Amino acid sequence: MKTTGYAAQSADAALAPFDFERRELRADDVAMEVLYCGVCHSDLHQARNDWGWSQYPMVPGHEIVGRVIAVGNAVKLYRIGDHVAVGCMVDSCRECDQCRKGLEQLCRKGNTQTYNDKDRFSCEPTHGGYSKHLVVREEFALRVPDGLDLSKAAPLLCAGITTYSPLRTWNVGPGSRVGVIGLGGLGHMAVKLAAAMGADVTVVSRSKDKEADALTLGADRLLLSSDTEAMAEAANGFDLIIDTVPVKHDINPYLPLLDVDSTLVLVGQVGPLAEPSTVPLLLGRRRIAGSPIGGIAETQEMLNFCAKAGVLPDVEMIGIDQINQAFERLERADVRYRFVIDMATLPASPASAA
Ligand code: NAP
Ligand code: ZN
Ligand code: ZN
Repeated sequence: MKTTGYAAQSADAALAPFDFERRELRADDVAMEVLYCGVCHSDLHQARNDWGWSQYPMVPGHEIVGRVIAVGNAVKLYRIGDHVAVGCMVDSCRECDQCRKGLEQLCRKGNTQTYNDKDRFSCEPTHGGYSKHLVVREEFALRVPDGLDLSKAAPLLCAGITTYSPLRTWNVGPGSRVGVIGLGGLGHMAVKLAAAMGADVTVVSRSKDKEADALTLGADRLLLSSDTEAMAEAANGFDLIIDTVPVKHDINPYLPLLDVDSTLVLVGQVGPLAEPSTVPLLLGRRRIAGSPIGGIAETQEMLNFCAKAGVLPDVEMIGIDQINQAFERLERADVRYRFVIDMATLPASPASAA
């Protein structure tokens, strides 16, 4: 299937129109027209090769909502016209112990990422949702629950599940004391989800000017990370802290915030941290953990939870031709709180964009 999208051709190139082919439908594939695609900070990291494993050309995008336009002849779960969503994975081995537990994100053989990866069968490069169409095996498409606003649902597929999963893993519920470091795309979803689960939520931010937003999003307070007195007063006050900071940073100031046996879970930075001290870990029996996205079943559970609880991201809708500007703003943390691309703005082909 011929399609079109926006791609990075190298680590220092702006995204630009790009024509490419999607695979012919396999028996268990669905083809979708992409309606909306969220802009995750990971897209920026990958387009710029911040993690060192980028392949070009690269069509980013892993917060994808669309409509089924064709189905393979063995497809059971979806029909033409259904609203479906795709997140960060499009396949996994589906046989290992982790896959059998529904933890495809932890597949022993590695899951297949939606972009910047290789198809398990054909070894063709995978391309993401900054595109007109997507082809995906049916088990890796999620059902968008009726009533969920399609124009806002896309960021749930990465920012939503990446924060929902640790909240569930660490059993957050009414009365849990949750801290969220960094109020961006992931951070604002963590706040909304934790608040919807009944937690007492604190945003830990560099930006005092996000305080009013934090409260509106459902947080109980904002703790300014540069206010050493307030940070000291907040010591031992958290059961779980979700750290969404997207770059190398120093977690030492945050560790004393944890109560005994409590956990700081890193979901933001992929790569080195400034050297953590073991002193607050040993003396307070505190823990540091990491967490990647979530499994397919948990992602569906999260979508259903959001539909029921009325949880949706705060979205700034953009046209695809604004994507490079959006990347620059994302780098400056100048987004409140997730860019979503309206894919109707994508011209039919690069030729017609000229
Ligand atoms: P984002 O929208 O840019 O938000 C990041 C927030 O972190 C900013 O709003 C800012 O909040 C804070 N921040 C930014 N630069 C900082 C710095 N130098 N020091 C301290 N705080 C800083 O990014 P995002 O889309 O939420 O993504 C966050 C990170 O998660 C990215 O690195 C992304 O690759 C990663 N990610 C991981 C997974 C996973 O599976 N684990 C999934 C998705 C994304 P304040 O202004 O409030 O301080
Ligand atoms: Zn993401
Ligand atoms: Zn597996």
